[in-house]
Amino acid sequence: PPIIQIEHLVKRYDSGTAALDDVSLEIREGEILALLGPNGAGKTTLISIICGLVRPSGGAVRVGGHDIQRDWRAARRMIGLVPQEIALDPFETVLSCVRFSRGLYGEPPDDPYLEQLLRSLALWDKRDARTRELSGGMKRRVLIAKALAHRPRVLFLDEPTAGVDVALRREMWLVVRDLRAQGVTIILTTHYLEEAEEMADRIGVINHGRLLLVQPKSELMGEFGKKH
Ligand code: ADP
Ligand code: ADP
Repeated sequence: PPIIQIEHLVKRYDSGTAALDDVSLEIREGEILALLGPNGAGKTTLISIICGLVRPSGGAVRVGGHDIQRDWRAARRMIGLVPQEIALDPFETVLSCVRFSRGLYGEPPDDPYLEQLLRSLALWDKRDARTRELSGGMKRRVLIAKALAHRPRVLFLDEPTAGVDVALRREMWLVVRDLRAQGVTIILTTHYLEEAEEMADRIGVINHGRLLLVQPKSELMGEFGKKH
């Protein structure tokens, strides 16, 4: 069965904005799905609902079979989220940041997974550094480590390369591919076609709250008349 099932999702904010309009989508375990669309399309709203941060106006979402409204804790445990804004305490160390995130899920501060996680993100040698000493790329990898601290099966990345330079963007692409190779299902949002094309197995195009199409990237590129 799909790891995430989204059925007829609707979101209307109190302001009256219709942010999502009847979105249905199934996400398979182990894939990288890019949600591609311009600013205001509804991408962050969709991710926020799946992660249980925003209440839907209608429809249903199940994560690993758990309904996000009725069984929020079990659903949320399966998910890690890297939000758009970077928010790290500059005086905290890499280890303390990640241990804090583990504590939120009742995980012990240390175990073999923690070391493996930090090594896979090339952060192990920096584990005692304060985050203010880190490069922009390392800070982003710390945010990913925090999101993966409780060993979720699905990772959400909201605009992972917004406002970063080309070198860092490429670094993020490699990190995402590496995580997928470790079996993590990844959903990311972007407004760059190139980024969706580089990173994803499937691309969902979203605009004005509607999921216009979802296709393997090879087919989508065909429709845009591009080779890759
Ligand atoms: P919900 O119905 O999900 O609780 P609300 O409509 O109450 O959402 O809005 C949540 C918060 O986001 C409010 O404080 C609101 O002022 C703020 N907000 C309103 N418009 C926007 C916007 N366009 N983008 C981001 N936040 C907004
Ligand atoms: P995207 O992530 O694709 O840029 P969003 O999901 O942030 O799109 O926004 C979708 C629409 O919902 C936009 O019109 C936005 O202004 C509106 N919106 C987003 N968050 C809120 C909020 N909390 N309250 C009211 N309106 C919001």
